[in-house]
Amino acid sequence: MDLKSKLRHVMGFPKEGIDFIDITTVLQDPEAFRCCMDAFEELADSMENFDIIVGSESRGFIFGAPLACKMGKGFVPVRKRGKLPYKTISAEYDLEYGKDVLEIHADAVKPGQKVLIVDDLLATGGTAEANIKLVEQLGGKVVGLVYFIELSMLKGREKLKEYKVNSIVTF
Ligand code: IMP
Repeated sequence: MDLKSKLRHVMGFPKEGIDFIDITTVLQDPEAFRCCMDAFEELADSMENFDIIVGSESRGFIFGAPLACKMGKGFVPVRKRGKLPYKTISAEYDLEYGKDVLEIHADAVKPGQKVLIVDDLLATGGTAEANIKLVEQLGGKVVGLVYFIELSMLKGREKLKEYKVNSIVTF
């Protein structure tokens, strides 16, 4: 299936000049969603074996949690500041459209655990860097990062040179 053609482009969201790629048109189509999750699994399978998947708020949850379940792995949510109930550690990061802080539960990744990071889209790589920082601060080892969409013009991959990065579709 041509997943690229199933994505909707919304011009001018969230601000003028941005071509926002909307994944909801894939999610609402059962065949496309299934095909997307199968493609995620194939990419994840091509990485070194891992113990858990880390996905960040909020679209990282949409793909990360079902992928973890499908592959028999655990899922760890990374959330915006103040949302996680237990002890956390945090990392600041630059967004394509601003700055923010991400947090992870302090006991969510055990030292030596192998982690796959999953998200909907790789743009500048700022979110990815924050996720990596959180995992590594807890002693985890990032085996790779997998994305539905990669915006190659924004060169996120260059920030992630030391890591294996795979994406299903590239613009
Ligand atoms: P980065 O930190 O610059 O790599 O941006 C990646 C994050 O921004 C992802 O978590 C996406 O959810 C979000 N994002 C940036 N651009 C888009 C887009 O065009 N469509 C959907 N999400 C986007």
